[in-house]
Amino acid sequence: MTRVALIAHDDEKPELIDLATEYDETLESFELIATGTTGKRVIEETGLDVERKASGPLGGDMMIGAEVAEGRIDAIIFLRDPLTAQPHEPDITALLRICDVHDTPLATTRTSAEYVLDGLRREHGQGSNN
Ligand code: PGA
Repeated sequence: MTRVALIAHDDEKPELIDLATEYDETLESFELIATGTTGKRVIEETGLDVERKASGPLGGDMMIGAEVAEGRIDAIIFLRDPLTAQPHEPDITALLRICDVHDTPLATTRTSAEYVLDGLRREHGQGSNN
């Protein structure tokens, strides 16, 4: 099953919720994992089923990175706040790097996320969106 990770920095969480709502039929057909707070909000606000890891600043990005290293993740939607410094910047850099190492699709903006989700839907043959 297609396994997709969702992560959003605080300022970007509303954007991720909006994206998840727009793509809910597509996302429903995937196995979803997320960092802690992102996952909580996606579950509460969209009803999607999400496996929650630790919160990002407490190691959630690294937990998702470990799954990338194990070849378990098909794509990551990571809506980053480009204007605010994050305390866990080293973890974020590590996650981006391990995605590069494994050629794991990684989208860090709304538009690129839509392209990745559209591509996954096509590749994995899951009907049309909404
Ligand atoms: P969060 O983590 O979903 O727990 O907020 C995301 C992050 O800040 O990396």
